[in-house]
Order: sequence, then structure tokens, then C-alpha cells
Amino acid sequence: MEEVLQKLPEKAKEKHAENKKFFAKLKKKPPKNLDYIMQELHKAEFERTDCLTCANCCKTTGPLFTNADITRIAKHFRLKPQKFIDTYLKIDEENDYVLQQVPCAFLGANNYCSIYEVRPKACREFPHTDRKKFQQISSLTLKNVAICPAAFNIVEAMKKRIGGV
Ligand code: SF4
Ligand code: SF4
Repeated sequence: MEEVLQKLPEKAKEKHAENKKFFAKLKKKPPKNLDYIMQELHKAEFERTDCLTCANCCKTTGPLFTNADITRIAKHFRLKPQKFIDTYLKIDEENDYVLQQVPCAFLGANNYCSIYEVRPKACREFPHTDRKKFQQISSLTLKNVAICPAAFNIVEAMKKRIGGV
């Protein structure tokens, strides 16, 4: 996995123009069964991918925290939400709460998440490749393929399956 992660940014860069073109077309005319296709590709990829050998999302980017996430996680630590915010979070340029630093403070030994049961919604959903109307998050996906090897493979599989580039 180490080698895959090392090569990923370069591979994503090489595919960037092609991916951008593909998503522009997809946005204009998404196949009727796109939600179904994405479920299938996502499931197949994550049957092959063991996130515990990777954790690159937790190490390099981290999630944004919604108010519901903050309330739930603060409660887990028996902290006041404001205390949790002051200890772990900051506000980014888009006015969202994000981690003060990466790797995530909750990433434990062997890539386990120490707050797995109460982790942020964005962590549960990352890399969002099984979400409905996937064409609507193409700019996010274009970034995620440089971070997440599974997202990279899913986009490659999409291009093969749907065609058009
Ligand atoms: S979601 Fe992607 S980046 Fe995160 S651990 Fe799994 S394969 Fe790695
Ligand atoms: S909260 Fe857990 S899953 Fe989310 S970034 Fe931190 S270690 Fe990873």
C-alpha cells in the first residue's frame, strides 16, 4: 500500500484532464442508472480494499465536522462542545469546522479510528463514491482521486463502464 500511496498523486495528475472531461460529460448527460452503477463499483472496490492498510484520508485531509458531529463526539469524551472545538478544531476558509492538524488526532495505532462508533459523518461517507447523483460532486472527486486509491480505481472503472472519454 505504501508504494501505491506514494505514486497516487502523480497518477491522479496524469489522469486529471481526462477525468475532468469525463465528469463534464457525465454532468450534462448522466446515465439513468448511475446511482445503481456507483453502488456496484463502490461495493466491488471496497471488497478489494482494506482501509486499515491505508488510512490516507485520516492522515492527509480529515473531515469537516457538522454541529451534530461535534455534539456527539464531545459527549463521547464528556466534554462541553466548546471545549472539544477549542482542543481539536479550527474554522477553515469555507467557514467549516475542520481538524487543527493532520494526521487526525483520533487515528490510533494500526490505523484504527479511536472514535469509530461516533466518528464524523464525512468520515463514514468518504470517499462518497456510493452517494446518489454522484455527478454532482465531481470537483470533490477530482481531488479525492489523489488521496484515496479506492476512489482512483472507482473513477477508472466508471470511465471503462460508462465510456465517453
Ligand atoms: S477511504 Fe480511501 S483513503 Fe481512506 S483509508 Fe480507505 S482507501 Fe484509504
Ligand atoms: S475521526 Fe477517525 S475516521 Fe475520521 S479522520 Fe479521524 S481517525 Fe479517520
